[in-house]
Amino acid sequence: MAPTTALRTDWEFEEVQKIYDLPLMDLLYQAHTVHRTNFDPNTVQTSTLISIKTGACPEDCKYCPQSARYQTNIEIEKLLPLEKVLSYATRAKENGATRFCMGAAWRNPKAKDLAKVCEMISEVKKLGLQTCVTLGMLTLEQTEELKKAGLDYYNHNLDTSPDYYSEITTTRSYQDRLDTLSNLRKAQIKVCCGGILGMGESRAQRISFLLALCNQEAHPESVPINLLARVTGTPLENIEDFDRIEFIRTIATARLLMPKSFVRLSAGRYNMSDEMQALCFFAGANSIHHGEEKLFITDNPSIREDQQLLQRLGMISYDQVTLSEVECSSQN
Ligand code: SAM
Ligand code: SF4
Repeated sequence: MAPTTALRTDWEFEEVQKIYDLPLMDLLYQAHTVHRTNFDPNTVQTSTLISIKTGACPEDCKYCPQSARYQTNIEIEKLLPLEKVLSYATRAKENGATRFCMGAAWRNPKAKDLAKVCEMISEVKKLGLQTCVTLGMLTLEQTEELKKAGLDYYNHNLDTSPDYYSEITTTRSYQDRLDTLSNLRKAQIKVCCGGILGMGESRAQRISFLLALCNQEAHPESVPINLLARVTGTPLENIEDFDRIEFIRTIATARLLMPKSFVRLSAGRYNMSDEMQALCFFAGANSIHHGEEKLFITDNPSIREDQQLLQRLGMISYDQVTLSEVECSSQN
């Protein structure tokens, strides 16, 4: 089968299964060919992510150390003051990030908190950084407020397949997630949407998860593929370690299904070898979170380690101008 670069949102399960099940070398070859057609394969986009409100979340996501239901070793923190957020953002810019992401452990934001986050967004933008926030579920009015504040991206993950979702989270439904994604699209905010591998899902469920991502009305502009970070105290702490080849296979399939999206390595990267990250980049990953802060309260490689890895691979990070050009040419 010849690699495709068309932006399709009507994929069938069997078609994706055929791609996912290809011999790995064929899959990698196809994915890399499509990747090269759409992106410079030696450049990655880098974002810095901080937690602006940590822990005490009422939701029950089984992977997450921030749920109030599990006994985990995290420091609960109220919404950070603006000055602290801006000092993190300034450092992120100095360290070469093009996007500053702010995450909050909420089911959904309250009006007074959203107003504070909107102020953070407009102030961070003044530093010349793109902004992304992840705050839980949103109404249409809330997405419009965020748009007015100048928000570029909103992260809202589907996390897994529709038929496995209730094994992972019971306090909201898949449809709730889809509704927020639809509100974001109506407000014309770019979408960052992906999920987590290694939560006990089957291969068929990983394929259904990819289908749920690529068959939305438009492909998410950014697709984070997380490797579960197994955190002590969460229900998934003792789950079997996930097969790294299967992870790479998922990245390659995501690249083929969503040829113009940025495919992001996010949580769990700390547990990936340099060689594995290199293979993920070859398979089509072209975006990473870096920074000194923990990633959603789980470890992340240091900026120095990331810089050394990119240097060893002969790769560089996008600067803001080139990134904007690439984003414009990738609009669905
Ligand atoms: N509360 C908001 C929500 O759930 O959308 C935003 C914050 S939540 C921490 C953002 C994402 O972090 C989740 O959707 C999940 O994909 C990822 N995440 C959290 N804990 C993780 C873990 N232990 N391993 C991998 N990914 C994780
Ligand atoms: Fe709360 Fe988000 Fe963690 Fe779920 S993933 S428990 S919603 S912070």
